[in-house]
Amino acid sequence: MRIVLLGAPGSGKGTQSQLLVKAYGIPQISTGDLLREAVSQGTELGRRAKAAMDSGKLVDDATVLGMIRERLSRPDAAKGFILDGFPRNIAQAEALQGMLADLGTPLDSVVLMNLDLGILFKRLTGRRICQECGKVFNIYTSPPADGKHQLIQRPDDKEEVIGKRLEVYEAQTKPLIQYYEAAGLLHSVEADADVETVFKSIERAALPRTVAGS
Ligand code: AMP
Repeated sequence: MRIVLLGAPGSGKGTQSQLLVKAYGIPQISTGDLLREAVSQGTELGRRAKAAMDSGKLVDDATVLGMIRERLSRPDAAKGFILDGFPRNIAQAEALQGMLADLGTPLDSVVLMNLDLGILFKRLTGRRICQECGKVFNIYTSPPADGKHQLIQRPDDKEEVIGKRLEVYEAQTKPLIQYYEAAGLLHSVEADADVETVFKSIERAALPRTVAGS
C-alpha cells in the first residue's frame, strides 16, 4: 500500500497513520516528525527549518524533498508507506510523482481527511503531547485519564501560529485536492467521527475491496 493522507493540520493524519502502521506493517513517513526530530537534534537541517516551522510557514521544498528522497530509499519503504503531511504543495506533488516513477512504485491512493475549520481549530488548540511516551491527547475532547503524563504543547499549536498554518493549508495544500482528483487518485473521508470509524473509512477508501473486506 502506497498512500498519501491529505488534510489540514489537526485533521487526524498522524493518529490514523499510526493505526495504519499497526494494521499493515508499513512505515509512516511524516515530514513534520522528521523535521521536529532534526530540530531537537540540533542538526544543520533542523536549524534551517526551525524558523519556518515556529511561524507556521512551510519549510523550503529543496530541504523537504531531500529528506523524502532519502527516506523513500530506505528498505522498509519498499513494501509500501503512508505519507503524512507530504506533499504540501503542487511542486512537492510533482517531485514525488517523479521520484515514484523512477522507483517504479506509483501511488495507490490519496485519502483526503475532511473536517470543518471550527473543529480543526479546537483540535489544534487543545492538542497536548506527553513528553515521556509521545501519546497525543486533547485537553477538551480526550484528556489523559490519570496524572501520569507530562503534557506539553507543540510550539506551532499555539493560537497565534495556528491561524497561519490553516492559511498556508488553504493557499498551498488545498490545490492538491484538484491535482489528485484529476489523477483519479483522490478519495474523501469524513474525519469528524471517532478514531475507529475514520480508520474503517480510510481502509475502504484506500484499499482494494478484497483487502478491506467490503
Ligand atoms: P506537521 O506536523 O505535518 O503539521 O508539520 C509541522 C510543520 O513542519 C509545518 O507547519 C511546516 O512548517 C513543516 N512541514 C511539515 N511537512 C512539510 C512539508 N511537506 N513541506 C514543507 N514544510 C513542512
